[in-house]
Amino acid sequence: MALISGQQYIDRINQLKPEIWIEGKQVTGKLSEHPALKGIISSKARLYDIQVQKDMIDKMSFKTPSGERAGLAFFPPKTKEDLERRRIAIQEWAKSSGGLLGRSPDYLNTILMTFMQSAELLSSQDPKFSQNMLHLYKKATKNDLSFTHTFVHPQVNRGPFQFDFSEDPVAAHITKKTKDGIIIRGARLLATQGGLTDEIIVFPQGGLTDLRFANGFSIPANTPGLKFIARESFDYGKSHFDHPLGSRFDELDSVVVFDDVLVPWENIFFYENIELSNDIYNKSSFFQHTVHQVANRCIVKTEFILGTIQLMIQTINIGGYDHVQEKVADVIVALETMKALVLSSEIQAKIDRWGTMTPAKEPLHAALCYYAKIYPTFSDIIQKLGASGLVSIPGEKDFDSPIREDIDKYLQGANSNAEDRVKIFRLAWDLSMSAFGTRQSLYEQYFFGGPLSLSKRLYLNYYRDDQLNRVKAFLSITDEEEETAE
Ligand SMILES: Cc1cc2nc3c(=O)[nH]c(=O)nc-3n(C[C@H](O)[C@H](O)[C@H](O)COP(=O)(O)OP(=O)(O)OC[C@H]3O[C@@H](n4cnc5c(N)ncnc54)[C@H](O)[C@@H]3O)c2cc1C
Repeated sequence: MALISGQQYIDRINQLKPEIWIEGKQVTGKLSEHPALKGIISSKARLYDIQVQKDMIDKMSFKTPSGERAGLAFFPPKTKEDLERRRIAIQEWAKSSGGLLGRSPDYLNTILMTFMQSAELLSSQDPKFSQNMLHLYKKATKNDLSFTHTFVHPQVNRGPFQFDFSEDPVAAHITKKTKDGIIIRGARLLATQGGLTDEIIVFPQGGLTDLRFANGFSIPANTPGLKFIARESFDYGKSHFDHPLGSRFDELDSVVVFDDVLVPWENIFFYENIELSNDIYNKSSFFQHTVHQVANRCIVKTEFILGTIQLMIQTINIGGYDHVQEKVADVIVALETMKALVLSSEIQAKIDRWGTMTPAKEPLHAALCYYAKIYPTFSDIIQKLGASGLVSIPGEKDFDSPIREDIDKYLQGANSNAEDRVKIFRLAWDLSMSAFGTRQSLYEQYFFGGPLSLSKRLYLNYYRDDQLNRVKAFLSITDEEEETAE
């Protein structure tokens, strides 16, 4: 069976030994036992365990042509029912983290599926490159591989018309071609879960003019010369009671450094190719399928936020106030909007040029723009409703100390004991105020390019000639025509 269990994922990731740096120290030993990583690795392991559960396996996987079962994110949909199957599986995995794992393996596995479906595009440079893509997809489904990715140049100078034409640019670029492959030097902005996946997919950012950056490939996370420089972990080693989210779901974001990394020819999908750098995004259905995964995760996340808010309200009995009801209604509107946009994309789905049933782009693009703007308002709502409750949150150790009696008495809720109340408010704090919670807000705004660039792309690509013509026609009606019609 191609599907792996949580333990298999842990064993494999422990054997990999990629070069990860956290707070000035290189991670040595088992990743699954490192204090900054063990929470996220065990949360990911739980995902793999879910997919092999007897009662879940049909929901979470499909039979590949070779008869093995592989994760449903790898499944290329052919019908609208297939899209629905994908939606159910995506949401099922998202439920295990309240949608807080942006990079559950189905995100990149979906991306790989779309690149595989459109692999023919890559033959324009060399037919071997499309074979490389097909081979990677086969290997990934057969071994249930997980991926991270890095698409963007480092944030050095974002001023207008800033191009780094220097001999040794900061952004990852080709320095040499050899009989064994290409040599890459430089850095990429970020890879969430860098080093915690089997491989990393490296694709170019849009709008390139310099051939040296126009490369696409995938390499194992432990490739020599590949380095992940992680930020400080938001898993501070606290208990699940104290940091219910940070202790479980901090995905860690890393700068990716390539110290003269050899990328073998069989791992390359294109190189020094500006046309393919754009075509791979424009001509594949990368956007639609990826955002379909994203929007489904966001639905589950919004449900989790709604549930948390409702628990806070009940705990301190503020549900009777108009403004509280209005704020909850805002979250419900967001939830129903996201659900409607996903369904709309599925209803309007069409077979694309690669034979893949592809959800409609427009509602998904709208969902992406909308969520990037609405998400930060959820934190605001939680803070406005929680008020001081979000800082009156003694920790687990306080409940296990001589002051327990005081806490039990003074921190009780209207409908709960002190321990339950603090648990709920700690969750709300971790969702909206902690380092983990604020990073979630940043993530939802920026992981796909930022609110401004998302809106700009929608403005540029949304077909609206029909609407324009209808208004023009209305304006051109003469009084005589109107009178005749009457
Ligand atoms: C939590 C998190 C996780 C991420 N994970 C990944 C990952 O796994 N893989 C990956 O590839 N990427 C990842 N990203 C990166 C993400 O793709 C970028 O953050 C996004 O593309 C925006 O780029 P930037 O961060 O460099 O912002 P910048 O482009 O530097 O923007 C900074 C500010 O300058 C403004 N600005 C910049 N250029 C212009 C312009 N031309 N016109 C107008 N305003 C401009 C922006 O609007 C913004 O306000 C992640 C980002 C975050 C925050």
